[in-house]
Amino acid sequence: MINSINSLNTLSYTRPNESVSVAAKGVEISYNPQDEMVMEPIAVNVPNIRASNSTLEGENVKFAGKERITPNDEGNYVFTPGTRKFVAAHSLATVQQTVNAMEEKLGSEIHWAFGDKQIELNPDAGIDFNAYYSRDSKSVNFFHGKDPVTNRQVYSGSSGEIVSHEVGHAILDSQRPGYFTSWKADTNGFHEAFADLTGLFMATQSDEVCELAAQETGGDMHKPNCLAATGELLGTSINNKVGRNATGGNYIRNFINDFKWQAPHTVDPHPSGSDPLTTEMHSWSRIFTGAQYDIMSDMVARNIANGMEPARAIKEAGSESMGLLAQAVKLAPQNEITYRDAALLMLKVDAQNGGQNHDIILNNMLQRNILFEGDDTPSDMSMASIVPDRQATITLEGPEFGKFSGAEVSGRVSGGLTAMSGDPGLELAEDMKQLIQNGSILYTEPNQTVSKSDLFDKNGNAYIGVVRWVDGKMTIERNGMIS
Ligand SMILES: [Zn+2]
Repeated sequence: MINSINSLNTLSYTRPNESVSVAAKGVEISYNPQDEMVMEPIAVNVPNIRASNSTLEGENVKFAGKERITPNDEGNYVFTPGTRKFVAAHSLATVQQTVNAMEEKLGSEIHWAFGDKQIELNPDAGIDFNAYYSRDSKSVNFFHGKDPVTNRQVYSGSSGEIVSHEVGHAILDSQRPGYFTSWKADTNGFHEAFADLTGLFMATQSDEVCELAAQETGGDMHKPNCLAATGELLGTSINNKVGRNATGGNYIRNFINDFKWQAPHTVDPHPSGSDPLTTEMHSWSRIFTGAQYDIMSDMVARNIANGMEPARAIKEAGSESMGLLAQAVKLAPQNEITYRDAALLMLKVDAQNGGQNHDIILNNMLQRNILFEGDDTPSDMSMASIVPDRQATITLEGPEFGKFSGAEVSGRVSGGLTAMSGDPGLELAEDMKQLIQNGSILYTEPNQTVSKSDLFDKNGNAYIGVVRWVDGKMTIERNGMIS
């Protein structure tokens, strides 16, 4: 086992692990690619991070406000897990590592959607079991709360998966800012899936995590494991707080699932059963994330069949999957993306790389009803084949909109490779009906003061839209935060 870890380090192509080999130089920082429920943190030396003015700063990230941290006695930033200093150092290291890795996969520098070079990091912005990215405040934000069962102080910023998830939102926003104004289930589900997958793929680039997942699964990634479950510690605390298994298990989400795509407008907004699929973006994301996880799992199996040790097979599959997703985003439509678009783009990217994952991608996407019989690698991905986006502004009218009847809403609709060509206003009305029925829009009264915490539902998910009143007129606007 030890030999395989050493060989991983020398064979690694990714920046996070280059950092391990140069740990003797520069500053060491606490990092946990999972969380303290799963494993002990490690110390890493992250490229593009420097200690300056008695604090830490990254090329692409800085602490918000007056947050500062001083080094330990050895001049490093390695701290005891569960402390505020640990959370600050760890979350800063995670943000920069995620940017480093994604820049390598994109093949280009990341410029944040809000225009600044550095995103602001709030490692602990107060009491809550939550985390979010806000373009408006140019920041990623994490919180703490006391688990009522374990009495443990739980910081969302102490999980590598959760920090990478929020940075994933910011990275996708930097590549495709148009997705942030969409009301479409697939586009918003893709944002969540991209964020969850960023957390997953970053975790696969840790030798320690790959070794643990290999021990848990023997290389069969369909067995429960730390990579498939995301946000174990926070998910457990959320369940302990609400007094029931609200997340389906001791995690926030699990990528081992059987969810299949169907036309979003045909989904029951109030399904029965535990952990049912709805078009709420976190719920809906699980179809695409599940498909991607299965693709990665099949790559792991292939790598093992080709003679790789399970841990290395996982790491290589994670790296390759991350590259496919990043490159697909570079080809993606600007303002809307369907899961089918994303799957076709992945086939296209894979074909450009030699096509070794063609069958794995196609079969898993067919299995999920994301692709259909007859779909295959598109020959033409030029802009000419993309249906242009159309803008629509409508007033919601009718009993199906309940108290939202009379609200004005604007949106871009029907972009992408596989767009429908129906009436954009009717399509937008259908999208809004679905979002209102699944509880994704926050209603407010005229003159109501809306605080930041109001913008999250009882499960801690940010509402996608919120009612604003201007001159007595009700409008529904996109929430500027995504959790
Ligand atoms: Zn999210």
